Order: sequence, then C-alpha cells, then structure tokens
Amino acid sequence: MLTASVAVPRPVRRLFTYAVPPDLASRCRRGVRVVVPFGQKKVTGYLLELLDESVPAPDYALKPVEEVLDAVPVLDESILEMTRWAADYYAASWGEMIKAALPGMQAVLRKTVTLTPRGIRALEGGGGALLDSSLPDVARDPLARDMLGVVAEFGADPERGMRMADLRKKVGPRFRPALFDRLRREGLVAVVERPASPGPRPRYEQEAMLVQPADRGAERPQGGPPPGRRQQRLLDLLRERGGRAPVSALLTESGATREALRGLERRGRVVVRSIESPRRPAALELRVEAAPSFTPTPDQRAALDVVSGLLDRRRFGACLIRGVTGSGKTEVYLRSIESVISGGGRALYLVPEIGLTPLLARRLRSRFGEVLALLHSGLTEGERFDEWRRIRDGRVRVVLGARSAVFAPLQDTRLIVVDEEHDASYKQDEYPRYNGRDLALLRAKMTDAVVVLGSATPSMESYRHALRERYRLVTLPSRIGQAGMPAVERVDMREEFRALGRESVLSRRLLSALEERVAGGEQSLVLLNRRGFSTFVLCRSCGEAVGCRRCSITMTLHLREQRLRCHYCDDRRRVPASCPVCGSGELHFGGTGTERLEEILRARFPAARIARMDRDSMSGRGAMERLLTRVERGEIDILLGTQMIAKGHDFPRVTLVGVLAADAHLGLPDFRAGERTFQLLAQVAGRSGRRDRPGEVIVQAYYADHHAIRCAARHDFEGFAKKELAYRRVMNYPPYSAMTLILVRDRRFARAREGAGTVAALLRRLAPGTLQVMGPAPAPLERLRGEYRVQVIVRAASRRAMQDALQSLMAEMERRSIRSENLTIDVDPLSTL
Ligand code: ADP
Ligand code: ZN
Ligand code: ZN
Repeated sequence: MLTASVAVPRPVRRLFTYAVPPDLASRCRRGVRVVVPFGQKKVTGYLLELLDESVPAPDYALKPVEEVLDAVPVLDESILEMTRWAADYYAASWGEMIKAALPGMQAVLRKTVTLTPRGIRALEGGGGALLDSSLPDVARDPLARDMLGVVAEFGADPERGMRMADLRKKVGPRFRPALFDRLRREGLVAVVERPASPGPRPRYEQEAMLVQPADRGAERPQGGPPPGRRQQRLLDLLRERGGRAPVSALLTESGATREALRGLERRGRVVVRSIESPRRPAALELRVEAAPSFTPTPDQRAALDVVSGLLDRRRFGACLIRGVTGSGKTEVYLRSIESVISGGGRALYLVPEIGLTPLLARRLRSRFGEVLALLHSGLTEGERFDEWRRIRDGRVRVVLGARSAVFAPLQDTRLIVVDEEHDASYKQDEYPRYNGRDLALLRAKMTDAVVVLGSATPSMESYRHALRERYRLVTLPSRIGQAGMPAVERVDMREEFRALGRESVLSRRLLSALEERVAGGEQSLVLLNRRGFSTFVLCRSCGEAVGCRRCSITMTLHLREQRLRCHYCDDRRRVPASCPVCGSGELHFGGTGTERLEEILRARFPAARIARMDRDSMSGRGAMERLLTRVERGEIDILLGTQMIAKGHDFPRVTLVGVLAADAHLGLPDFRAGERTFQLLAQVAGRSGRRDRPGEVIVQAYYADHHAIRCAARHDFEGFAKKELAYRRVMNYPPYSAMTLILVRDRRFARAREGAGTVAALLRRLAPGTLQVMGPAPAPLERLRGEYRVQVIVRAASRRAMQDALQSLMAEMERRSIRSENLTIDVDPLSTL
C-alpha cells in the first residue's frame, strides 16, 4: 500500500500517516498541500514523504488522503528544512510552522450534505418505505422526507453533495436543526467537510490580440462590411497598445460593446483569449518619479564597504547597523540590495509592519520596478498568492515583507535586511511564536547568506552579539542634513505637582512649547501610550475599581461610545451610575487616555487643527494612510496618539514632540521595561526636526531619573546599553541566558496551578543543574478572558541547552499523555508580562 507522511497544522509534534488512494497517487508529491481527515475534521496538511509498499503498513486501518491541492509543490527543500528547524526550536509542531510560512494558503473547507444508501432507500421506497421496519421512525416524518427530497435533488452526486448552507436556504424557515440531526444520526444523510476551494487561485482575464495581416493568410479573406466607427476605434486602440490589451479596458476606453468586438473576432481581425492576470498590491501600482541618486556620506560608504565585504565571501555573515533615525540607513540597504542584484543574486527586505510605511514600498518600487514583490498581511489573499507565486517562479529579485516573508520561496537569497530589528512586531504573538529576525539569521546560516540588521536602538541581544564580534558593528552617528539631533528636555512631574498644587496632564513647559508651534504654524506630536478617556473608574466610597469580569485588569472608559472597555479581551459594558460593589454614587473617573487628551488639547487650542491616531480612531482600511497624508501636507497642527505615531513615519514639518507618562512601562514586572522605554523615546524623538529644522522634545515623567529616560534624553544608546547589559547580567536575564515562558491556562485556578506545577517539576527533574526553573507563580495578568494563568519561567545558559530541555519536556509530556492544549510555550519571550 502506498502511504504518505503528512504534517498537520495542529499542536501535536508527530507526523501522521495516511493511505494514498490509487487515483491520487500520481499527484501526491513531497511539498504539496493535501486535505486529510483529522479527528472529526478535515484539515489542510502538508505531504512530506511518500512511503511505498516496502514500508510495512501499520496494523490499523489508515485514513486516506482525500484531496491534493497543488499541481506543483508549494514547499521546496529549503522551506521544509527551515520550518522543521524552527518548529523544533520553538517547541511547536512542524505543521503549524509550515502554516505560518504559507499565510493565507489554507484550503477553505465547507460542510456538505449527501444522501447515504440508506437515505436513498428511505426516499425511494416511497409508500413502501413507510412500512419498512428496518428504517427509523424519522424516515416517516413528512418534514424529514421533504429535507431528504431536497438533498436528493441538489446533492445527489456523492462526490460533491450540496452545501449545508444551501440546504438551509432551500428548505427555508421550515428547516429544523434537531430533525436534521436525527437524520444524520440515523445514517440517512452524511455531512462531510470538503474543500470548497484550495485557497486562492490564479486570476484570469480576457485579452484581445490584433491579428497581423500576415497571420490571417490568403485563404481567409476579410468578409463582410468594413468595420464600423466603434470597431475602427477598437482596432486603433489595440494598435496603440502594441497589439494587445485586456478586453475590459478596451471596452471602457472605446465605449464599444462586446458585440462590436465579437464582430471583429468573427472577421478574423482580433483574437480573444484568457490569460493569467496577476493581482498587484496597490502600493506597487503607484507611479513614482525615479529616486534621486545621492553620493553616499563617508559613514554610509563605510557601512556599504562592510556589507559588500561580507557579501564577497559568499558565506554566512551578519552586520548590525546602528544609525540614528534619518542617518541614511535605508539608503545603505537599498544600495546593498542593488549590488546583490547586479551580481545576479536576490534579496529579502524585512520591515516590522509595511502598512505603516507605504512610502517605503513606493521608494523600492521606483528603484527596483517589476522585480519587486510585496508580502504582508495587508494584501488581499489573492494578491498575496500571486506575489508568492511570482517569487517562487523566479520572476522576482527583491521581496519587501513583514515577519512571515522570512519564509518567502526566493531562490538564491544572498542578502536579508532586517530593518528596525529590535521591533516587537517581528515576534508572532500567537502560536507558533517565532521571531522573524532570528529566523532570518537561521535562514542565512543555512544558505550562506548575509544578514544586515539595522536599528537606531538595537535590541540588547543583537548589540551584545556585535560587541562580541559575532556581528560586524557599523555606526551611523549623525543625521543627514543640517537638522542635527533634537534637544530633549525632561520634565519631572513630581515638581510640577508641587508647584501647581494639583495634578496636570500637560506641564507648563509643554503647554508653552505647543503654543509657540501653533502660533508659528509648525507641527507638533504628542505621545500618550494609553487609549480611551479615563483609564480607571474608582469608587470613592469603598475604594473598589471597576474591573473586567473576565480579566484581572481595570476597565477603561471610552467616552464617545459611552462604554467601559477591557483592553485585553475587549469586553464592553455600560458606564455604571453607581458602584457595582457598594452601590455608592460617588464614582471617580481617573487616569488620562488619548481620548481625554484630545479633549484637553482642543479646549486649550481651539483654533488648532488636532487629530488623534490610535487603534480606536484608526479603524478601517486606509484611515491611517489618509491621516498620514494630511499630516504630510501640513493640514494638521497637533497630532496626538499612542505609540502608533512613533513608528517610522517621516514628518518633515514636525518640530516639537511631547511625551506624556514616559515612565508608564517602568513600573511593570517586565525585564525589558527599560529597553522598551528607551526605544520608544528614541523613536518618537526621531520624528522631530528632520530635514533642516531643529527639533525639540519634551518628556514628562514622575520617575524622570530612570537611566532609560536619562540616556534617551542624551541620545546616548551606548550609555544606556552599558547600564542595561550590566543589569541583565546581574539578574541573569537575556541576553545572558536563554529564557522560555511557559503559561498554563484554565478556568479553575487550582487546575492551572497544578498543570504549571507538573511542568515545573518535570523540568527540574529532566534537566537538573542546567536549568533555572522559577515558579509556578500567577502571571502578572492573572486572569484573561475568564481563564487563570499560571506561569513558569525557565532559564538556561544557552539556547542549545534550552532547546534540548524543551524537547525532552515535550517528549515526556507526550509519553505521559499530559494534555498540552492549554499550555503556551514562548521561547525567547519579548516580555514576562
Ligand atoms: P534612516 O533609514 O536612517 O532613517 P534614510 O535612509 O531614510 O534614513 O535617510 C534620511 C533622509 O536622507 C532621506 O530623505 C534620504 O533620502 C536622505 N539621504 C540618505 N542618504 C543621503 C545622502 N547620501 N545624501 C543626501 N541625502 C541622503
Ligand atoms: Zn463602592
Ligand atoms: Zn477583559
């Protein structure tokens, strides 16, 4: 028997064996997607190996492969190898990792209904069936017989059946789910999940082609009357477009009807045929003027030399470019990519979130034209599929993409650029929790490529590698142009409180700076990393804060919606008029979020044009880009928002940045709190004073003396890194140890604690000495969506040791059949929150 080994996208680590039916045998190849039954469901799996008769079949009946979705394998050897390694490293299943590598390429499965032979007998027996005692009672129910009749009419083909949804529609309001269920339980109908579509498919469109007189041949003289005016216009248009054009465009432009075109076809002047028409991401359609060509600055030259030196060796190598915002890093990436392309190679360019940098896509488009592909989650499924296939088919030389583009099927990748390498978006925050930056390094190691990491504020991990000379370190210390780095001033809000005798949201210093900008027609940004109006609602009588029913967190008031919202699970409830605990009417709405800040600013600067950018105000496709364009055009005076405003936008007119509650993160039990704070401040400060205007930054905090804030104010990355690394070393935190966060969730606290206790005990026993196991302890966010969370933090001296320990943990858990669905294993977590 021919069998196949298949990886399924479920959190189980082993592969599964399926029987290969003879009619599918020729299409079953390594690397194709298949539909296989799994438990009660059908899933899209990945065929990894065909095993022939020589491999003894197991002694139980194998389930069959039901469908082969690809004619050409979607997974090549290098993606297979990479996903396999990544699955091992992140203690995830291979199938899940492959699924993450092929985003949007899951088959769509639909429930369909068919009649079983028994159902046919019941229906066809007519009156006889009513007496047939082998048939269940339900076969005699008139309504049930109606339903069977509809299935017989529309779902007779056992290969296809009819869609469950259609059955409901056809039967109409008389459809009874319970009755239908009985038909299924009694075996009169079968409900099967089948692929409705194998995921996205190529798109075709009709193209008209002018037939050249020579092709027409003498034996087919032109018959009929001469072409009419519209037809003549069609022919002219076709000629103008070089002899071929999409039919839809031709008809729109000429105003001719389809019939006019058909007339030309009949006379042999034109041929219409279907050709594939790839969908292009909108950002690639925009025409942009050719990029200006600069002479690199000496610093850029030095960086380019390091990169080309690495590329020349044709072996794995990495370099970290630390360059302040506006120092010309992007230019270094682009030139390096150009040199790779001119040498016949290909390059991957990873960025945290492309949606935030539409300008970059256009800039690349003007540099690389048709050989550029885009891969990110903002594309439609069809666009992504087409871009993916252009890459696989070798028609692309540069791929610009987010995290998952690290898996792009780009052959001969010699260079991988990871811009803003420190950014948290590289880490997938759901299973499997891989880090795109780290996988870029892995990919480069496997294929002898070069990685260029770039950031104004490198992660402590990458920076330490650079200090130890595992990566080459290049520094671009100054901005291009006259502007220089902005002056940063810290405002201690404790002193502000003392001076004013009350709490204030905006310090006097920031208010006067804003006033100046508004009066002078210059732009300002104000960052407050908290959404909503009031960040907590407190009862003045009993002291209780209104918390989420499902999470251990206070709820935020959103004034415009008139709702309290939980920022973790998005639960909403009405704004209480009195305390839910003691009934007192004395409620205090405390804390300031962006919504309240907007109101304060509007009241204070009634003439200014003010806009807010956060997740609440930026819902809907394109909202972000529209607002950014308005800011770019100078139509906004004050832009306020969450960290969204800090991301790599280029705001040439901004000369003031205000940061409120800069220390908000520092009180949290997260070993990266300092690093995050420094990064955010450096990043938002970088928005001020680009080009030739000097910028100013005002940072407000109660704990303004923290080294993260002091160093950020001096633009002193090295000073910050020195302190931060010393702290991490003392505490044995990454990068001085490898860390994994294991979280057990359960509706009952005791069970979550017990599960986490088992994991901790196993780890202590499996790897005594090499591991430091802490916990179990309640997670800082103890309850989320109604589930308790108990965590175990594991540290090892090396990632290798960590990987070995996790592998033995998983094996041991499987051996003891310990459930793992409610277990999250986060290798190299970004935070311990
Ligand atoms: P970064 O990526 O470090 O933020 P960019 O590469 O975007 O910096 O460069 C900042 C600005 O300086 C851009 O507007 C870019 O066009 C310009 N620029 C880059 N390199 C040069 C150069 N060598 N000469 C003049 N202008 C440059
Ligand atoms: Zn109360
Ligand atoms: Zn909640």
